[in-house]
Amino acid sequence: MGASTFVRVNGRGNAWPVFLGGSSSFYDASSSIDLSNASFSIIHCRSNKFKLDEIESEILIDAGHHAIPFLIQHGNRIPEAVVLTHGHLDHTLGLDWVAQSKYYLSNKTQLLKVYASLLVWKFVKQSYPHLEKIIDFRELLPGKQITLDGIAGIQLTAYPVYHGEHAKGASMLCFTTNQDKQILFTGDMLCPILPKKEIEKIKGAELVFIDSNNRYPYPLSNHGSVVPFSPANKTISSQLSDWFEKASLNYLIAPHARSSYNSIYHAYFEEFLDDYNAVSELPHSIFDFAKLTLPQKLNLIHYGGMEDLKYHSASVINSEQLQEWTAKCAQDYDIKTTQFNVPGTGDVFEV
Ligand SMILES: [Zn+2]
Ligand SMILES: [Zn+2]
Repeated sequence: MGASTFVRVNGRGNAWPVFLGGSSSFYDASSSIDLSNASFSIIHCRSNKFKLDEIESEILIDAGHHAIPFLIQHGNRIPEAVVLTHGHLDHTLGLDWVAQSKYYLSNKTQLLKVYASLLVWKFVKQSYPHLEKIIDFRELLPGKQITLDGIAGIQLTAYPVYHGEHAKGASMLCFTTNQDKQILFTGDMLCPILPKKEIEKIKGAELVFIDSNNRYPYPLSNHGSVVPFSPANKTISSQLSDWFEKASLNYLIAPHARSSYNSIYHAYFEEFLDDYNAVSELPHSIFDFAKLTLPQKLNLIHYGGMEDLKYHSASVINSEQLQEWTAKCAQDYDIKTTQFNVPGTGDVFEV
């Protein structure tokens, strides 16, 4: 029996799945785990079945509200590493709990390893200054593949994304297994910042977990949408075409600007600027991202639908409706090879 790799959904929520005093047609308010923010674990098991008592290693991707109660109730072990897409609180609020667990349960002899871009780490240190002393930070550089310390069988590459001018250093995370299968977590993003040769590297990913904050475009939310058009017509939405008029490629890369020169950063963004002429050439919807990168299974997470309601008069729908609606629109949009899925919290995928 060989070892196997699994991805577990520890949470699928956007920043506030259910507002206190509010309600949601998507998230189950009576289930505490369904209130968890988007968070995932890549788990290696000693056998080829997913068993909580046979976990060999675990990489935790993001840790927002309620991710830690989920982890305590599902295996209750400290991950070998944490990797962050960006610093926003709905992706990092649980980090203190993980780091303190590692620190105290090792009698203050071990620090939690946290991988992120330098600018995400700066954001985390500003938000939670005490964490600097109990975290062993490892920097991710754009497009540079690394192995994670002490974790066999998997490599990690971070690629910058645009998620608003204040989301400094936000990145998508691409994990490659020894069987050359790819698992991609976009984190929150309006659009990726990918030179063309990097697109080739993520093409055909086995599993993608993608920011699906809304069904229809509202670029000023700094999140992407499932489709690029508005409910009223099937051409590009006016919100998106207005954005294409106003935004520039330099504006998109500005949140990644470092205060000191780094040759890897410089080369990466120079190549990106050489490859494109306008923001409109970048995929701003999940469908355009799917057409460009041809993933096998695309999991929609981080749904909220608030901007759909406010700017498109489109209702907030439930899990089953989102999956059905997406599959139907994908057919109309001529996407044939990608399977769309709305995962539940606790779902486990074998890679
Ligand atoms: Zn978020
Ligand atoms: Zn965010």
